[in-house]
Amino acid sequence: TIDFAEALQMPGTSEELTPQLTSAEKRKLTIEETRKSLPVYAFREQFIEAIKQYQVIIIEGETGSGKTTQLPQYLYEAGFCEGKKRIGCTQPRRVAAMSVAARVAEEVGSKLGSTVGYSIRFEDCTTERTMIKYMTDGMLLREFLNEPDLASYSVMMIDEAHERTLHTDILFGLVKDIARFRKDLKLLISSATLDAKKFSRFFDDAPIFQIPGRRFPVQIYYTKAPEADYIDAAIISILQIHLTQPLPGDILVFLTGQEEIETVQEALTERIKNLGSRIKELVILPVYANLPSDMQVKIFEPTPPNARKVVLATNIAETSVTIDGIAYVIDLGFVKQTSFDARSGVEYLNVVTISKAAANQRAGRAGRTGPGKCFRLYTAWAYKHELEDQPIPEIQRTNLGNVVLMLLSLGIHDLVHFDFLDPPPHETLVAALEHLFALGALNHKGMLTKLGRRMAEFPCDPSMSKMLVASEKYECTEEIITIAAMLSVNAAVFYRPKAMIIHADTARKSFWSPGGDHLTLLSIYNKWKETNFSMQWCMENFIQYRTMKRAREIREQLKGLLERVEIEPKSSTDTIAIRKAITSGYFKNLAGLDKSGQYKTAKQRHTVQIHPNSCLFEDRPRWIIYYELVFTTKEFMREVMEVESNWVQEVAPHYYKSGDLEDPTNKKMPKQRGKTKAELMQ
Ligand code: ADP
Ligand code: MG
Repeated sequence: TIDFAEALQMPGTSEELTPQLTSAEKRKLTIEETRKSLPVYAFREQFIEAIKQYQVIIIEGETGSGKTTQLPQYLYEAGFCEGKKRIGCTQPRRVAAMSVAARVAEEVGSKLGSTVGYSIRFEDCTTERTMIKYMTDGMLLREFLNEPDLASYSVMMIDEAHERTLHTDILFGLVKDIARFRKDLKLLISSATLDAKKFSRFFDDAPIFQIPGRRFPVQIYYTKAPEADYIDAAIISILQIHLTQPLPGDILVFLTGQEEIETVQEALTERIKNLGSRIKELVILPVYANLPSDMQVKIFEPTPPNARKVVLATNIAETSVTIDGIAYVIDLGFVKQTSFDARSGVEYLNVVTISKAAANQRAGRAGRTGPGKCFRLYTAWAYKHELEDQPIPEIQRTNLGNVVLMLLSLGIHDLVHFDFLDPPPHETLVAALEHLFALGALNHKGMLTKLGRRMAEFPCDPSMSKMLVASEKYECTEEIITIAAMLSVNAAVFYRPKAMIIHADTARKSFWSPGGDHLTLLSIYNKWKETNFSMQWCMENFIQYRTMKRAREIREQLKGLLERVEIEPKSSTDTIAIRKAITSGYFKNLAGLDKSGQYKTAKQRHTVQIHPNSCLFEDRPRWIIYYELVFTTKEFMREVMEVESNWVQEVAPHYYKSGDLEDPTNKKMPKQRGKTKAELMQ
């Protein structure tokens, strides 16, 4: 049970809860007035002076103060684009890059993609004329491959630095190096929270500029006891707030991912329906990384009069994206995070508790336009004793294969002495090098091979890049780029509305292909293509049309990249050849069934399970290769395909020893049984 009743019955005067500007009032403000109302505006002249004087400056300011949208514009207005140079601004998340670019284009009064544009993986919305360019940190990293001195930029703003994403952390080292020999390049490092001193020290004591924030008090409430079902608790809290609290005052809920958001969205819609017309309208809006762009616009639209908005978000709404009018925050206290175990080489996606710093950021989102309330669905004790102070930077908990390949192709070989803000664990670097070696991207001297250079052209992780390049040998490029595109969007291919779950699952099963999930994804795409990419067909088959459209775009991009590395498009119906090409990239993810009926990874003997949504869940073939491991209640392998164990020896002769490919139980069999391995093999 949740015990917010007390908090919610508190006689909050309506004045206290009314944001200073209502949405309707705000709409009336012209863009100019809105811009001038942001805290950063007062700091404009001082900022331009500072950037003229110093090469590197650190900016610290409360989220929503206008750093991301305004600073690049100030620079543009102050003439930093003269001489055909651009102003760049990196964002850790694609949704942020796109939505901020859209906003700034509107403020500048130009079409998105002309003066103001953005660039994210598989999508470049810029032209020759683009002066202010927002991009994901990963894309800027890729730009280094073509333009190692960032010659086309006059200013580079590394934004949301406090997020400490892997790519941003690598960028710190790279831009710091460039600034040494490009004295005309200005650097801005901007962050929302307390890390400014650390950034300053890293950038040779660069000056710190603080933008005075404006923040209203936020009351914090905790649950009295831990929640057994925090999803249900979240739904109840939303309804309680909606039913008891005055309008206006929108709600922001922090969840862990798309699936969870969709679950809450469906359940909430259902409950609201049951409550009938007596209650005020509740507009439910999801926000997550893969949100299609037409949906993104909706989150910024003002709440209709006499209604309340509830935004269901991942931690993207913690700092990257600011939604006006939020008065209530519901914080479940979790975030989805990758973690990497260098010893086993296994990468997981887990749900973990957030840090205190993150919890405070989340709470702060309720106090931007007026006093707010934050409901934490965990206990005060848990906050105090179970949450870490700061999140661990991604570089210290993730697989580095991708980044190492990129650094090597930039000619940076001495990775141990690279200028890291916080260095990654040594064994993670070694694991990345070993994996690249096994893939054939590196030779025994640690130098990039021709294969490695081709792989580096793809904005994908090394396994996927290798699979793409290997499709040349197996003469099935057309199929492999489809599979790669479908894997990249995969989580959202199927539509499973609760009310029609049986129909949806029947439709899903009709696509199942004997070889496994990869071939199933291929067959879905090909069938869709046969209908000339029909929307109707998607609807009839419970397939998400938007996801498919995105897969098609990604496929086009990959096709172009294959051309760049001079791989001719070839098509094949040989499902063994297709699976061998996949195996060439993903041999590391081999798992075998042991005598006790469990899957174990071939190399590390790690117990894993086939995800129940997989088409091989019941078949349980002897050997499988999975696409990713997701840790929820168990370690689930997502997207699996059946392989033969000798394929891995064909594609990666040195990676597995013959013992690895025997029955995984053999090693565990007690010796007394007196059977030889050969006997057990029979
Ligand atoms: P900061 O980077 O300091 O966190 P931003 O520049 O992102 O601040 O935000 C400043 C203001 O611009 C906020 O009030 C925010 O709501 C608004 N804003 C940002 N993006 C959009 C958008 N896509 N549509 C409408 N308003 C936006
Ligand atoms: Mg920002």
